[in-house]
Amino acid sequence: GRARMTWIGTSWKMNKTLAEARAFVDGLVAARSALDGVRAFVIPAHTAIAAVRERLPADVPVLIGAQNAHWEPAGAYTGEVSMGMIADVGATLVEIGHSERRQHFGETDETVALKVAAAVAAGLTPLLCVGEPAGVRAAGGETDWVAGQVSRGLSRLATPDLHKVVVAYEPVWAIGDLGREAQPYEIAPVMEMLSARFRPAAVLYGGSVNRRNAAALLGVPGTDGLFVGRAAWDVAEFIELVRIAA
Ligand code: PEP
Repeated sequence: GRARMTWIGTSWKMNKTLAEARAFVDGLVAARSALDGVRAFVIPAHTAIAAVRERLPADVPVLIGAQNAHWEPAGAYTGEVSMGMIADVGATLVEIGHSERRQHFGETDETVALKVAAAVAAGLTPLLCVGEPAGVRAAGGETDWVAGQVSRGLSRLATPDLHKVVVAYEPVWAIGDLGREAQPYEIAPVMEMLSARFRPAAVLYGGSVNRRNAAALLGVPGTDGLFVGRAAWDVAEFIELVRIAA
Protein backbone atom coordinates (compact mmCIF):
# COMPACT_ATOMS: atom_id res chain seq x y z
CA GLY A 1 0.00 0.00 0.00
CA ARG A 2 0.91 3.66 0.02
CA ALA A 3 3.30 4.97 2.67
CA ARG A 4 0.89 7.68 3.81
CA MET A 5 -2.89 7.89 3.79
CA THR A 6 -4.21 9.19 0.51
CA TRP A 7 -6.11 12.46 0.52
CA ILE A 8 -9.41 12.47 -1.34
CA GLY A 9 -11.70 15.47 -1.22
CA THR A 10 -14.24 17.59 -2.98
CA SER A 11 -15.20 21.24 -3.14
CA TRP A 12 -18.86 21.80 -3.82
CA LYS A 13 -18.17 25.26 -5.28
CA MET A 14 -21.39 27.37 -5.30
CA ASN A 15 -23.69 24.35 -4.95
CA LYS A 16 -25.91 22.57 -2.42
CA THR A 17 -28.67 23.77 -0.15
CA LEU A 18 -28.59 22.86 3.53
CA ALA A 19 -30.85 19.88 2.81
CA GLU A 20 -28.53 18.70 0.04
CA ALA A 21 -25.47 19.18 2.24
CA ARG A 22 -27.04 17.15 5.04
CA ALA A 23 -28.02 14.38 2.62
CA PHE A 24 -24.40 14.16 1.49
CA VAL A 25 -23.27 13.84 5.11
CA ASP A 26 -25.82 11.09 5.69
CA GLY A 27 -24.31 9.25 2.73
CA LEU A 28 -20.85 9.57 4.29
CA VAL A 29 -22.12 8.17 7.57
CA ALA A 30 -23.77 5.24 5.77
CA ALA A 31 -20.42 4.43 4.13
CA ARG A 32 -18.46 5.10 7.29
CA SER A 33 -16.23 2.01 7.14
CA ALA A 34 -14.88 3.02 3.70
CA LEU A 35 -13.49 6.24 5.15
CA ASP A 36 -11.01 4.74 7.60
CA GLY A 37 -8.31 4.12 5.03
CA VAL A 38 -8.17 7.62 3.54
CA ARG A 39 -7.86 11.26 4.54
CA ALA A 40 -11.22 12.46 3.21
CA PHE A 41 -12.38 16.07 3.09
CA VAL A 42 -15.43 18.02 2.01
CA ILE A 43 -15.49 21.75 1.24
CA PRO A 44 -19.01 23.21 1.32
CA ALA A 45 -20.06 26.78 0.61
CA HIS A 46 -19.73 28.95 3.73
CA THR A 47 -23.47 28.68 4.36
CA ALA A 48 -23.30 24.91 4.90
CA ILE A 49 -20.09 24.49 6.90
CA ALA A 50 -21.75 24.61 10.31
CA ALA A 51 -24.57 22.28 9.25
CA VAL A 52 -22.08 19.75 7.89
CA ARG A 53 -20.03 19.93 11.10
CA GLU A 54 -23.15 19.42 13.24
CA ARG A 55 -24.47 16.55 11.14
CA LEU A 56 -21.17 14.66 10.88
CA PRO A 57 -20.52 12.43 13.90
CA ALA A 58 -17.15 13.15 15.51
CA ASP A 59 -15.95 9.59 14.88
CA VAL A 60 -16.51 9.73 11.11
CA PRO A 61 -13.10 10.74 9.75
CA VAL A 62 -13.90 13.49 7.25
CA LEU A 63 -12.22 16.90 7.38
CA ILE A 64 -14.26 19.99 6.62
CA GLY A 65 -12.96 23.00 4.71
CA ALA A 66 -13.96 26.42 3.44
CA GLN A 67 -13.54 27.62 -0.15
CA ASN A 68 -12.07 31.00 0.77
CA ALA A 69 -11.58 33.37 3.70
CA HIS A 70 -10.13 36.85 4.23
CA TRP A 71 -6.67 37.43 5.70
CA GLU A 72 -7.67 40.05 8.26
CA PRO A 73 -8.91 38.67 11.60
CA ALA A 74 -11.88 41.06 11.87
CA GLY A 75 -13.09 44.46 10.83
CA ALA A 76 -14.90 46.57 8.25
CA TYR A 77 -14.77 44.11 5.32
CA THR A 78 -18.38 43.77 4.25
CA GLY A 79 -19.20 40.40 2.73
CA GLU A 80 -16.03 38.66 3.89
CA VAL A 81 -15.46 36.04 6.58
CA SER A 82 -12.23 35.56 8.51
CA MET A 83 -10.07 32.48 9.01
CA GLY A 84 -11.09 32.50 12.66
CA MET A 85 -14.78 32.54 11.73
CA ILE A 86 -14.54 29.47 9.54
CA ALA A 87 -12.48 27.68 12.18
CA ASP A 88 -15.17 28.61 14.71
CA VAL A 89 -17.88 26.84 12.68
CA GLY A 90 -15.84 23.67 12.22
CA ALA A 91 -13.49 24.03 9.26
CA THR A 92 -9.91 22.81 9.64
CA LEU A 93 -8.96 23.31 5.97
CA VAL A 94 -9.24 26.38 3.77
CA GLU A 95 -8.95 26.43 -0.01
CA ILE A 96 -6.85 29.38 -1.19
CA GLY A 97 -6.23 30.66 -4.71
CA HIS A 98 -8.51 28.42 -6.75
CA SER A 99 -8.30 29.39 -10.43
CA GLU A 100 -11.95 30.48 -10.42
CA ARG A 101 -11.16 32.98 -7.66
CA ARG A 102 -8.07 34.18 -9.50
CA GLN A 103 -10.13 34.55 -12.69
CA HIS A 104 -13.39 36.04 -11.39
CA PHE A 105 -12.64 37.62 -8.00
CA GLY A 106 -9.30 39.34 -8.37
CA GLU A 107 -7.30 36.84 -6.33
CA THR A 108 -3.58 37.47 -6.89
CA ASP A 109 -0.38 35.81 -5.72
CA GLU A 110 -0.15 38.60 -3.12
CA THR A 111 -3.66 38.04 -1.67
CA VAL A 112 -3.00 34.30 -1.80
CA ALA A 113 0.20 34.76 0.22
CA LEU A 114 -1.64 36.87 2.81
CA LYS A 115 -4.37 34.23 3.09
CA VAL A 116 -1.95 31.30 3.39
CA ALA A 117 -0.16 33.04 6.26
CA ALA A 118 -3.45 34.02 7.95
CA ALA A 119 -4.73 30.45 7.67
CA VAL A 120 -1.65 29.02 9.38
CA ALA A 121 -1.84 31.71 12.06
CA ALA A 122 -5.46 30.69 12.71
CA GLY A 123 -4.50 27.02 13.02
CA LEU A 124 -6.05 26.03 9.69
CA THR A 125 -4.45 23.93 6.96
CA PRO A 126 -4.21 25.99 3.76
CA LEU A 127 -5.08 24.10 0.58
CA LEU A 128 -3.07 26.23 -1.86
CA CYS A 129 -4.39 25.83 -5.41
CA VAL A 130 -2.05 26.45 -8.33
CA GLY A 131 -1.99 25.61 -12.02
CA GLU A 132 -1.04 27.00 -15.40
CA PRO A 133 -3.39 28.26 -18.12
CA ALA A 134 -3.53 26.52 -21.51
CA GLY A 135 -1.17 28.97 -23.18
CA VAL A 136 1.61 28.32 -20.70
CA ARG A 137 1.16 24.57 -21.14
CA ALA A 138 1.25 24.91 -24.93
CA ALA A 139 4.61 26.68 -24.62
CA GLY A 140 5.99 24.03 -22.27
CA GLY A 141 6.38 26.44 -19.36
CA GLU A 142 4.14 24.73 -16.80
CA THR A 143 6.73 23.51 -14.30
CA ASP A 144 8.39 26.91 -13.89
CA TRP A 145 5.02 28.69 -13.84
CA VAL A 146 3.65 26.50 -11.08
CA ALA A 147 6.89 26.68 -9.06
CA GLY A 148 6.65 30.46 -9.20
CA GLN A 149 3.01 30.46 -8.09
CA VAL A 150 3.82 28.26 -5.12
CA SER A 151 6.92 30.26 -4.14
CA ARG A 152 4.91 33.47 -4.15
CA GLY A 153 1.97 31.86 -2.34
CA LEU A 154 4.25 30.65 0.45
CA SER A 155 6.30 33.84 0.61
CA ARG A 156 4.75 35.13 3.84
CA LEU A 157 5.18 31.88 5.77
CA ALA A 158 8.06 31.13 8.10
CA THR A 159 10.15 28.22 6.81
CA PRO A 160 9.14 25.85 9.66
CA ASP A 161 5.49 26.33 8.63
CA LEU A 162 5.92 25.20 5.01
CA HIS A 163 5.10 21.61 5.95
CA LYS A 164 1.66 22.73 7.20
CA VAL A 165 0.46 23.54 3.68
CA VAL A 166 -1.30 21.19 1.28
CA VAL A 167 -0.72 22.09 -2.39
CA ALA A 168 -3.28 21.23 -5.06
CA TYR A 169 -2.02 21.24 -8.65
CA GLU A 170 -4.98 22.05 -10.86
CA PRO A 171 -4.09 22.98 -14.43
CA VAL A 172 -6.63 25.59 -15.57
CA TRP A 173 -7.18 23.77 -18.87
CA ALA A 174 -8.19 20.59 -17.02
CA ILE A 175 -10.80 22.10 -14.66
CA GLY A 176 -14.55 22.17 -15.13
CA ASP A 177 -16.97 21.57 -17.95
CA LEU A 178 -14.67 22.91 -20.67
CA GLY A 179 -11.65 21.11 -19.34
CA ARG A 180 -9.99 18.12 -20.91
CA GLU A 181 -8.63 15.31 -18.74
CA ALA A 182 -4.91 15.45 -18.09
CA GLN A 183 -2.91 12.33 -18.83
CA PRO A 184 -0.61 11.05 -16.08
CA TYR A 185 2.53 11.79 -18.13
CA GLU A 186 1.38 15.41 -18.53
CA ILE A 187 1.21 16.07 -14.80
CA ALA A 188 4.12 13.94 -13.58
CA PRO A 189 6.93 16.53 -13.91
CA VAL A 190 4.89 19.14 -12.02
CA MET A 191 3.80 16.74 -9.26
CA GLU A 192 7.37 15.53 -8.74
CA MET A 193 8.69 19.11 -8.66
CA LEU A 194 6.08 20.15 -6.08
CA SER A 195 6.77 17.30 -3.69
CA ALA A 196 10.58 17.43 -4.03
CA ARG A 197 11.05 21.19 -4.01
CA PHE A 198 8.49 22.39 -1.45
CA ARG A 199 7.96 19.32 0.74
CA PRO A 200 4.42 20.32 1.77
CA ALA A 201 2.13 18.18 3.94
CA ALA A 202 0.70 16.74 0.73
CA VAL A 203 0.49 17.39 -3.00
CA LEU A 204 -2.94 16.76 -4.53
CA TYR A 205 -3.97 16.64 -8.17
CA GLY A 206 -7.25 18.19 -9.34
CA GLY A 207 -8.98 18.76 -12.66
CA SER A 208 -11.64 16.53 -14.25
CA VAL A 209 -10.85 13.64 -11.90
CA ASN A 210 -13.45 10.87 -12.03
CA ARG A 211 -13.82 7.19 -11.21
CA ARG A 212 -12.27 6.16 -14.55
CA ASN A 213 -9.05 8.17 -14.34
CA ALA A 214 -8.52 8.34 -10.55
CA ALA A 215 -6.33 5.27 -10.12
CA ALA A 216 -3.93 6.27 -12.92
CA LEU A 217 -3.62 9.83 -11.62
CA LEU A 218 -2.98 8.55 -8.08
CA GLY A 219 -0.16 6.46 -9.48
CA VAL A 220 1.82 9.51 -10.58
CA PRO A 221 4.96 9.84 -8.41
CA GLY A 222 4.72 12.70 -5.93
CA THR A 223 0.92 12.47 -5.76
CA ASP A 224 -0.56 12.22 -2.24
CA GLY A 225 -4.19 12.49 -3.23
CA LEU A 226 -6.93 13.91 -5.42
CA PHE A 227 -9.08 17.04 -5.28
CA VAL A 228 -12.34 16.52 -7.13
CA GLY A 229 -15.11 18.82 -8.29
CA ARG A 230 -18.09 17.70 -10.37
CA ALA A 231 -17.46 13.97 -10.23
CA ALA A 232 -17.76 13.87 -6.42
CA TRP A 233 -20.84 16.01 -5.76
CA ASP A 234 -22.99 12.90 -5.65
CA VAL A 235 -22.07 11.13 -2.42
CA ALA A 236 -22.18 7.65 -3.98
CA GLU A 237 -19.60 8.81 -6.53
CA PHE A 238 -17.50 10.36 -3.77
CA ILE A 239 -17.49 7.05 -1.89
CA GLU A 240 -16.52 5.26 -5.10
CA LEU A 241 -13.50 7.59 -5.33
CA VAL A 242 -12.74 6.96 -1.65
CA ARG A 243 -12.63 3.23 -2.34
CA ILE A 244 -10.26 3.75 -5.28
CA ALA A 245 -7.98 5.90 -3.10
CA ALA A 246 -7.96 3.54 -0.12
C1 PEP B 1 -11.76 22.12 -9.24
O1 PEP B 1 -12.37 23.07 -9.69
O2 PEP B 1 -10.98 22.24 -8.29
C2 PEP B 1 -11.99 20.81 -9.84
C3 PEP B 1 -11.14 19.84 -9.56
O3 PEP B 1 -13.09 20.69 -10.64
P1 PEP B 1 -13.51 19.48 -11.60
O4 PEP B 1 -13.12 18.20 -10.93
O5 PEP B 1 -14.99 19.62 -11.74
O6 PEP B 1 -12.76 19.69 -12.88
